Amino acid sequence: MHEEVAVIPPAIPEEVTDLPPDVALIFQFVNTDDRRAFTAHGTRLRPRDRLATAEELERWLLDHGLLALGRHADDAHLHRARDLRQALRAALDPAHHDVPEAARLGFDFDVQVTRDGAGLVLDADPATSALAQIAATAVTITANGTWPRLKTCPAPDCQWVFYDQSKPGRGRWCSPQLCGNRAKTRGYRRRIHDS
Ligand SMILES: [Zn+2]
Repeated sequence: MHEEVAVIPPAIPEEVTDLPPDVALIFQFVNTDDRRAFTAHGTRLRPRDRLATAEELERWLLDHGLLALGRHADDAHLHRARDLRQALRAALDPAHHDVPEAARLGFDFDVQVTRDGAGLVLDADPATSALAQIAATAVTITANGTWPRLKTCPAPDCQWVFYDQSKPGRGRWCSPQLCGNRAKTRGYRRRIHDS
């Protein structure tokens, strides 16, 4: 039964619950650009951008505890959010060749040190601070070594960013049962066709 559940693609990134908290935020953020367009168990997945408008961004930041109720995101924030997402997605996808080697995102941080430790002091504007929090989380998961385990599924009709939980960290597909099998079937069909 558990195996069955594991191969059903999540409808939304938030359905995936077994991720370390910092990783979860980046995973959910990059997968708001949901490119999946395959059929699994009779369900057709359709590509969808969950950050298509400033209102959607505002709702997303609110739902993820990054923006207080009553604070707003505008089109400039949306533009910045999409740049950040694009940079993260490109960096997580080795098949992505048409991007600069490094993207500078231009957030201003200051660091405040108290007896409780060191913390980032972010931009005064709440929605920009929320985006900076996401960028800072990407820095954190790089520092703690979990970044290389975030990977882009190589199936062209998937490109879901997944967290590789396999022990050696050599997982290739977001789901070997779905995307791995689809690729195998395609290879098989091609061989039949070519022979
Ligand atoms: Zn996949």
